[in-house]
Amino acid sequence: MSTRQYEGTAVPAGIPADAGIDIGGTKIAALIVDEQGAVLARGSSPAPAREGGAAMADAAAALVTRLCIEAGASLRAAGVGAAGVVDHASGTIRAASETFVDWVGFPLADELSARLGVPVRIENDVNAFLLGEAAGRDDRDVLGVMLGTGVGGAIIVDGDLRHGPHGAAGEIGHTPGYSDLRCTCGQTGHLETLASGTSIGARYADRTGASLDSREVADRARTGDADAIAVFRDAGRALALACASAATLLDVPVAIVGGGVARAWDLLAPAVEETLRTDAPITGIPLRVIPASKGGDAVALGAIESARRAHAVPAY
Ligand SMILES: [Zn+2]
Repeated sequence: MSTRQYEGTAVPAGIPADAGIDIGGTKIAALIVDEQGAVLARGSSPAPAREGGAAMADAAAALVTRLCIEAGASLRAAGVGAAGVVDHASGTIRAASETFVDWVGFPLADELSARLGVPVRIENDVNAFLLGEAAGRDDRDVLGVMLGTGVGGAIIVDGDLRHGPHGAAGEIGHTPGYSDLRCTCGQTGHLETLASGTSIGARYADRTGASLDSREVADRARTGDADAIAVFRDAGRALALACASAATLLDVPVAIVGGGVARAWDLLAPAVEETLRTDAPITGIPLRVIPASKGGDAVALGAIESARRAHAVPAY
């Protein structure tokens, strides 16, 4: 049996497969997927974000290698979805939150490729989320919105993920006009001031003085708390308005909404549906705004899709 060496660990040749890696500030999650799309192995490990890029690459490579051994998989390519502004052409991180030490400028794709012995593609995590959610759908034009700590966005047009000349296409969270509130970016009125997890908590605190996270505000809304219901109504309306604007500009008929806040879809949906009735694109696009369906796997699945497209690895 032929073997490939990784830091003294023999990886036996086995089932052809690809790895998807979701790198966040606290956790690295990975999937090993065969050519037909079946998940062969799944796992996670703590992200040593404060120890620098090399430590992160070591941890990701060790996780993938362990999962490949578990699954009897022979790796062909790997994709990474990473938080921050990603230069997918050079395979480096261009900007990231201060949680990540020695991460900006780190040649993540090259470093991981050297450790794993296969080509590696890196992609922004929201872009990867949308590729993962859109895979297997008939729609060739899809907007993605991630309602997490902040609000991220991504766009697929005619089947291709749009990066834009500055790698910033789809940044719907920092489009203006939704409130008079100061945004995390320093500007005023952005979608993020109403629809992020952080903002759900902050807007509830504005109304009541109570300091809760978005999940706790959701729990209160479900017990009939009028302030909590209003916070989600404002978030849902702003989300739908942003999606309607994007749909009108780009002729995109579906928006997929993920992230922690989207788990409270029951609370967002009434305002989303009402706003889609009152502010539908006048062009007649039958816009649907729907919750994500692939849960915690979406980023890793999309990272695999990105790697397969970039390296022309056959999926079937
Ligand atoms: Zn902003």
